[in-house]
Amino acid sequence: MRKIKNQIVVHAFTPIAKPINASIQKNSSMLLLGKFPYVNGEKTFNTKFYYIKGIRGMLRHACMELAQDCNIEVCHSSEKTELKDGKSVLPQGFHALGTCDPPCILRTIFGTFREKSSIVVAADPIASIKHKDFITIVPVQNVHISSENRIALAYDGTPIQDFRESYFSGFFSFQIDVTNLTDVEIKFLIEAMLYVEILGAGRSSGYGCVKILNIALQKVETFRRVEEDSEGNYKIIEETTEIPLSLSKIEDWRTSLNTMSKQDEKVAV
Ligand SMILES: [Zn+2]
Repeated sequence: MRKIKNQIVVHAFTPIAKPINASIQKNSSMLLLGKFPYVNGEKTFNTKFYYIKGIRGMLRHACMELAQDCNIEVCHSSEKTELKDGKSVLPQGFHALGTCDPPCILRTIFGTFREKSSIVVAADPIASIKHKDFITIVPVQNVHISSENRIALAYDGTPIQDFRESYFSGFFSFQIDVTNLTDVEIKFLIEAMLYVEILGAGRSSGYGCVKILNIALQKVETFRRVEEDSEGNYKIIEETTEIPLSLSKIEDWRTSLNTMSKQDEKVAV
């Protein structure tokens, strides 16, 4: 079995981020995946795995900002144009989700409620593993995960309500499968990384600041084969190779996009 895909791997750092899954009463928690074993030396331990929510939304927002900066109208995050009271919810520079013809660059990358996205955004789970050396069944990103106890104060400074929020801190990475994107769309996505700043909740309190450290565009080839061992068991052996890909002049997407839309207009005429 041989599979090929193109992906962007992004390495990032956050001092503290709260990609909150849900608020249960007074507790806000991250998306818990379950307890998984890891091995340190001769011993096996258990640790909790969590998923970093909100990365795709963070990227979509960054793409919207880049489009805004370049005066390119793109899909808004909703199909709604106004609220029941007639108040507009569509900011300038955006059209309602999925109403563009031909589809705008944001729609071709991220899809709509009804159309599939052309990219897949994924990250290995995160865990807080105290041991320096460890082996896990599936890849995991070792970060610091904890909860913060907070207190809401009354106007006069009296503590009136306590609540808990979970957070993580450290280096993390995520992958964007861009196999289905054109070079122009990949360039747009790469430049949008300049706008990535915030992940998760608590922005007003200074949480969720994300620093992108580096970005790699690569072709990933995966080979899998079945091998029989000496005891008659069949095992799946997987090998992966990553080959760096390069795209010249990232900012070129602007002119290519203009040329493309002009061509489309000509076809329409
Ligand atoms: Zn659109």
